[in-house]
Amino acid sequence: MHTLPELQQLEELIAQAPAEVTVQTHGQVQATQGTYPIYSLSMGNPSSNAAVLGFFGGIHGLERIGCQILLALLGSLFVRMRWDSSLHYKLQNMRLVFMPLLNPAGMAKGWRSNAHGVDLMRNAPVEAGQRVPFLLGGHRISRHLPWYRGEINAPMAKENQALCQFVAEQLFQSPLSIALDCHSGFGLRDRLWFPYAHTQQPIPHLAEIYALSQLFQESYPHHPYLIEPQSRQYITHGDIWDHLYQQQLLHSERVFLPLTLELGSWLWIKKNPRQLFSLGGLFNPVVPHREQRVLRKHLLLFEFMMRAVHDAGRWLPQQANRAQLQQQALQHWYRQ
Ligand SMILES: [Zn+2]
Repeated sequence: MHTLPELQQLEELIAQAPAEVTVQTHGQVQATQGTYPIYSLSMGNPSSNAAVLGFFGGIHGLERIGCQILLALLGSLFVRMRWDSSLHYKLQNMRLVFMPLLNPAGMAKGWRSNAHGVDLMRNAPVEAGQRVPFLLGGHRISRHLPWYRGEINAPMAKENQALCQFVAEQLFQSPLSIALDCHSGFGLRDRLWFPYAHTQQPIPHLAEIYALSQLFQESYPHHPYLIEPQSRQYITHGDIWDHLYQQQLLHSERVFLPLTLELGSWLWIKKNPRQLFSLGGLFNPVVPHREQRVLRKHLLLFEFMMRAVHDAGRWLPQQANRAQLQQQALQHWYRQ
């Protein structure tokens, strides 16, 4: 019996999930505290031609809030599946998939890394094209230091293998897929990051990212997010989304856009400096009203992403405007 509240909540959700939700287990991971399954949930059109929106969370065990906002979203979707015909209409044409708690063993330990000390966001076989910040950029010095990449030439951690296999099965076959991976801990603002993390070079799908970001900006001009390439903040080795993006590029022309939602936790600390004295408090809101606000704040973004994926044909760049969008995006994000 495990005592990880997020896992318990996820299993309660799974127990009451509507019949049309598919639940899978992708192996078990162990910590001294117990053995933990890695779950996925999927709902909607199962066809490989359907557009897919994937939600991922709990990759960093300390950043519990990312997992919690996905559990709140799942709970809301399950209730809406009972009455919301517009949701059912969308799900006839697209698929929603979730891996809300990818690193349960790390979360049980209260660690950023997995139970073996490996930082799952530094563990993929991707080498930075330039100098990375000391430690933070990923290193192989010791598993006892944060941001440890794992041993050289070792296979990826079990959690990352489960993630990669699931993304390949569920997202790579789709003509358009977007992944949203929820983290917390960096900066004063909520950010939406897109690849690359390992180089300052723009990704080949910059026009698509720019079109999506313009669509969001114009539809919801007062949204709170700063949208930018991750490399604008820092460069790292081993980013799992860089790896998956490059895998898809090698094998397919289909559009796969991995985004990271990075919740700006420094604001919670600024408003409540006592949080500095708890490790969990550096990455999660501890005051209840603030936690509730965070849980509901991102529903607009999630709803927008569903609509954008469902109606991708109406905004994805076409041959005629792609070069122009690419140019605007370079101006916007990559001017010196
Ligand atoms: Zn994180």
